[in-house]
Amino acid sequence: MVSGAAPRYNPAVNPHHPAHDLDKFHEECALFGIYGTSDAAAHTALGLHALQHRGQEAAGIVTFDGRHFHNHRAAGLVGDIFGEQSVIATLKGYSAIGHNRYATTGGSSDRNIQPIFADFDFGGLALAHNGNLTNAYLLRKELVRMGCLFQSTTDTEVINHLIARSSYSPVVDRIIDALGKVKGAYSLLMLTAEALYGVRDPMGVRPLCIGRLEDAWIITSESCALDIIGARFVRDVEPGEIVIVDGQGLRSIKPFAKQQRRFCVFEHIYFARPDSKIENVGVYEARKRIGMELAKENPVPADVIVPVPDSGVPAAIGYAQKSGIPFELGIIRNHYVGRTFIEPADHIRHLGVRLKHNANRAHIDGKRVVLVDDSIVRGTTSMKIVEMVRSAGAKEVHMRIAAPPTTDPCFYGIDTPEREKLLASRYDVAGMAKFIGVDSLAFISIDGLYRAMGMPGGRDAANPTFCDACFTGDYPIALDDLNDTEDRQLSFLAEPA
Ligand code: SF4
Repeated sequence: MVSGAAPRYNPAVNPHHPAHDLDKFHEECALFGIYGTSDAAAHTALGLHALQHRGQEAAGIVTFDGRHFHNHRAAGLVGDIFGEQSVIATLKGYSAIGHNRYATTGGSSDRNIQPIFADFDFGGLALAHNGNLTNAYLLRKELVRMGCLFQSTTDTEVINHLIARSSYSPVVDRIIDALGKVKGAYSLLMLTAEALYGVRDPMGVRPLCIGRLEDAWIITSESCALDIIGARFVRDVEPGEIVIVDGQGLRSIKPFAKQQRRFCVFEHIYFARPDSKIENVGVYEARKRIGMELAKENPVPADVIVPVPDSGVPAAIGYAQKSGIPFELGIIRNHYVGRTFIEPADHIRHLGVRLKHNANRAHIDGKRVVLVDDSIVRGTTSMKIVEMVRSAGAKEVHMRIAAPPTTDPCFYGIDTPEREKLLASRYDVAGMAKFIGVDSLAFISIDGLYRAMGMPGGRDAANPTFCDACFTGDYPIALDDLNDTEDRQLSFLAEPA
């Protein structure tokens, strides 16, 4: 992720990207690495394509051919950047790492596209990161004071400099030494001439898993990236684990002190692809169970259950199954919303929501409708969808949300609005219901969410298992940079407008 100048953690999201939805939290990065195949770049491009939902602004691949590293990074979608065989042909090698990125305002310049690459005394090293370091600014300030020259404004580059300055040997010990100094959420891939490394932070906030394709090893963010290349899921990388793949095969070390596991529960609710298996849990099944628990906790007499597509679909299926109320696709989503239509002219701006969603009147008119969505962030999209469903003739509109109220921003690699822009930080449930204009509104409880995730006793406050800070304000990793009040400027080079 990029640490921009201001605001420091959660820069306003980029309104110009076609896939952008201002009313959702956004995952910021995807990782794919492979070792041991002559088609390393082509497999990586396919893997990144399967992970496009985790970042749509830019992508990059670095390969190693036994003598040289090759690198191609650009802004855009994976298919546009790596769709040409001529591009893949330049990325020679039997090992590769790739990265998708969701840029934030103030950090969208090409120099921030990952993987980042640097020459060290031991050779080249490419690095790709999913997550966010929470003491990166403080470390950067210290490193600059010591003479380090930064090429980007990413927090990720801090890791490179820490590796460069480490006096340990071999490379893996330098990596351990460097990571011992950083705080935050990180899943990392590194590629050197000798090996591919995969690392997960000690709490395992962001996902990372291992796969196998014939003799090749793969390390990637989600299992859907294994499916696309026909690879087999082996296991998740454990929190605090470093996996090293080289000519000898795969080995694993756990050099960090064991900590409480705190995987991001929002990955299960919204970020991950429903066909992925993460932390041994099928994402689609988890979402259905959340919908069932939501129906159990918050029933309402109604004629039809309608998902807000696409992310509300599995929870709505679960809600319908539990409640016995019919499920219908009462809202249809247009997947082809292009850049041209992102900022409609003022006099038709109110039509904006219809660019993406349209009510399927036959299943709405005269009905008591339960709309099921995965979360409410600002509430502006929900408000427009409710209005649209009412104008399609709904008799009553009830909204059920498959997450607890999102009261707090994320500092661990998810792009979120500032706290004061989150609807749930401004209103109680009754106030939110009034704001979005529904007859009733209810959220799954935090205990209900944990029950749906297989913990019958609900959330154990002393041992919560997941990171759920955006629902509870209980941040499991210290936010050192946040407490540093200095006005910061990471670079004197102007970012593109
Ligand atoms: S704060 Fe929320 S979005 Fe961020 S890691 Fe924790 S659960 Fe996930």
